Amino acid sequence: MLKYEFLHGLQKRSHWLRQLSAQSSKRTYSSKIRNIGILAHIDAGKTTTTERMLFYAGKTRTLGEVHRGNTVTDYLTQERERGITICSSAVTFPWNGQRINLLDTPGHIDFTMEVEQSLYAVDGVVVVLDGTAGVEAQTVTVWTQADKHQLPRLIFVNKMDRPDADFEKCITDLKEKLETHPVCLQYPVKNADGVLAINDVITLERLTWQQKDLGQKYIRMKLEPSDELRALQERRNELIDRLSGVDDELADVVISTESFDKVDNSLIERALRRATGQLKVVPVLLGSAYKNVGIQRLMDAVNAYLPAPEERNQVYDCFGTEVAGKVFKIVHDKQRGALTLVRILRGEIKKGMRLISARGQAEVVSKMYEPLADEYREVNAVQAGDVVICAGLKSTVTGDLLTSSQSTLKNAQKRLKQNLGKTESSIPELDDESEESEEMFGLDPQIPDAVYFCSIEPPSISSQTAMEQALRQLQREDPSLRVSYDSVTGQTVLGGMGELHMDIIKSRILSEYKIDVDLGPLQIAYKETIESPALTTLSVEKEIAGAKQNVSITLELVKDKSELFSLDKSPENMPNLNTLRPRILQVVKKGAIGALERGPRVGGQVVDTQIRLHNATIGRGTADSFVMATAAQCVQKLLSTSGTRLLEPIMALQIVAPSERISGIMADLSRRRAQINDVLPKGERNKIILVNAPLAELSGYSSALRTISSGTASMTMQPCGFSAMNSADESQAERRAQGLE
Ligand code: GDP
Repeated sequence: MLKYEFLHGLQKRSHWLRQLSAQSSKRTYSSKIRNIGILAHIDAGKTTTTERMLFYAGKTRTLGEVHRGNTVTDYLTQERERGITICSSAVTFPWNGQRINLLDTPGHIDFTMEVEQSLYAVDGVVVVLDGTAGVEAQTVTVWTQADKHQLPRLIFVNKMDRPDADFEKCITDLKEKLETHPVCLQYPVKNADGVLAINDVITLERLTWQQKDLGQKYIRMKLEPSDELRALQERRNELIDRLSGVDDELADVVISTESFDKVDNSLIERALRRATGQLKVVPVLLGSAYKNVGIQRLMDAVNAYLPAPEERNQVYDCFGTEVAGKVFKIVHDKQRGALTLVRILRGEIKKGMRLISARGQAEVVSKMYEPLADEYREVNAVQAGDVVICAGLKSTVTGDLLTSSQSTLKNAQKRLKQNLGKTESSIPELDDESEESEEMFGLDPQIPDAVYFCSIEPPSISSQTAMEQALRQLQREDPSLRVSYDSVTGQTVLGGMGELHMDIIKSRILSEYKIDVDLGPLQIAYKETIESPALTTLSVEKEIAGAKQNVSITLELVKDKSELFSLDKSPENMPNLNTLRPRILQVVKKGAIGALERGPRVGGQVVDTQIRLHNATIGRGTADSFVMATAAQCVQKLLSTSGTRLLEPIMALQIVAPSERISGIMADLSRRRAQINDVLPKGERNKIILVNAPLAELSGYSSALRTISSGTASMTMQPCGFSAMNSADESQAERRAQGLE
C-alpha cells in the first residue's frame, strides 16, 4: 500500500535540495534578515518565548502571560489578545542591527498543511523543548518536517527554572529520539535559592538575569579559576573538538596552534555557523521564557548561526531576477479583508504589480504592508529574502507560487531542469520537467484528504449565505478544509483533519464573521468504491408544467482511477454518442459525477470508479435539469444495486521506544488492526516501529501509548490514504455512521 510513500517523498526532496546547494556558487551573505519559525510540542513554551522576544526587541511594552486552559481557546485568545491576526502569523522585529521575521508554524497535527507551507518560507527554525519533558511526540513530527526542508536548527531548552527540569536528559533525548548531533553552547546553573543562571561555553562567562526590569538586562561575569571554570573549559574543548571534526578552517587552526585554549571565540562562532547551516550540528541553548532568562542569547544565536536568505533556496536561482514569491498564509483582517503573506524568494514585489499564480490566475497587488507586531505600515516595494503582506489578491490560495508571468515560470522550470541535469546524470525520478519542478517549488501542495467530517448549520436560514461566504474565505486560507453540500440531508458538510481543526473553524466563524454556527457530531470520513462493474439503463418520462420530458440513459460503472467519466467507444454506441450535443454531454457528465459524491452505504465519496456513458436519448424540449437528475439517478441505481465496499482512512505512525517496551506496544497495536511495516534499530537502546493503522482504532492512542510505555515512547502520525475493510469492520462502521454505536 502507501507504506513508505511519506518517507520516500522526504528522501527524494532532500536529495534534490542537497544537489542544488552543492552546485550553487559560493556566496557571501550580506543580508541582515533572518526568516525563522519556532517549532515545539504544545505547551513547551513557544508562545511565551515569542512574547519575550518581542518584548526585548522593544516591540511590545508589557509582558503578557499565557495561562493555557485548553488549546482551542488559547489558539484563539492568543490571536485576539494581541489585537490582530497578523501578529501570530508573521512578525518582524529588529535585533542587534539585523531583522528577524518570525513566521508562525502551528504545532498541532490538525494543522500539518499550514506548518508545511510556512516551512517553505523560513530559512531556519528554533525548536523549543520543555526542559522537564525532553523530546515529545510533536517534537518528532516537526523535526521530521524540518528535515524534509533541510532546515538548519537551534534548540532552546525552556522551563529550566523548574526544579524537575533535566538538561542532560534533554540532550540524551535529542541524540536518541531525534538522532541528531547536539552541541551545547550553554549549561544551567542554579544558586542556593534555585534561581537559574547560565554558563556560556564559548566565552566562559556566567550570565545572570535581573528580574526587577523583567530580565531586560543581564550581567556577564568571567568565571574565576575554580573547579566550575575547569569543567566549563573542558566543555569548551569538547565543543572545539567536535566542530573541528566537521569544519576545515577550525581544524587547521587547532592543528597549527596545537592547543584548544588559543582558539578565538569568533573562530568557533564562524565554524558553528557553517556547521549549523550544513546541518552537521544543532546548537543547544537554554533558559526560562517564563522567568525571563536566556531569551536575548537565543536571539543572538538566531542572528549568528541561522542562515541569511541568500544562503538558501538555490532552487529558485532559476528565476534569476524575476519575481518568485511563495504564499505561505492567508489571513482575514476585519478592515482590510483577505491579506496574503508572501515570502519573496527572488526579484522584487512592488505595489500595483500584476502577479500570476502558478495555477494561471492574474492578480494585482493593491497595497503592501510590513508584518509589524502592532501596526500595519504600508510599503511600496519589498525585495527578495523578505516577507510581505499583500492586499488585493482575490483568488490566490495558500501554497501558491507567485511570479510575473506564465513564461517566467516556464523558463524557470526549463532552467531548473538544466541545472539538475548538470549535476548528476542518473536520477531516475527526474524525467518529467514540470513534475519535478512542481515538487521542488511545492507548487501543487499535497492537500491531505479529509479524515473527519461533520455537518455545519447556521443559526438561521437568513445567515446561510453569510456562512457560505465565510467558509469560502476560510478555504482560501486553509485548503485542507473541505466544504460540500449534502443534497440528501440538505446540510453543509465540513471535512477536515481533526476535532481541533473543526473547532477552530467554528470559533473563527463566530469571532471574525459573527455567525454562531452549530457543528454536528464528528465522524470518520469513509469512502466507498464499487466491487465489480455494472451496467444499467434508466428511462424516465414525465410531464412537467405541460412540457414532456423524456430521457433514456445507459451508464456503466467500472473500476478505474484514471478518469471519472468516459464514453464507450464501441461501434454500437458511437453513432448514438456522436449525435449528442457537447452541452448535453456536459449536463449528463455533471449529473453522473455529482452522484459519486455520496455512496449508498454511509454517504461516503465514491472513489476509484469510472462512469462510462454508453447511450443517451433525450426527447425534444427536455430540460437540462431533468437530464442531469436522470443521469444522477442512473448512477445511484447502479451503486445501490451492485453495492459498494467501504474504504477507511489509514494513518502512518512512527513510534520510537526503548527496545524492552516494543513487545507491549506491538501487542496493543495488533489489537488495533494495525499493519506493522518495519521495526528498525534506532540509536543504541531504541527501536522505531513503522506501522499503518486505521484511524477508527486510534482514538486516544497517544495517551494509551504513554501508559503502555510509561511515558518512554514518542510518536508521529499522519494520514496516508484509504484502505479496504473486511465485512465485519464495515458493518461496525455503518452502525457508527448511523449513530447506533
Ligand atoms: P506553547 O503551547 O508552546 O505556546 O506554550 P506556552 O508559551 O503557552 O506555555 C505553556 C505553559 O508553560 C504556560 O502556562 C506558561 O506560563 C508555561 N511556561 C512557559 N515557559 C515557561 C518556563 O520557562 N518556565 C515555566 N516554569 N513555565 C513556563
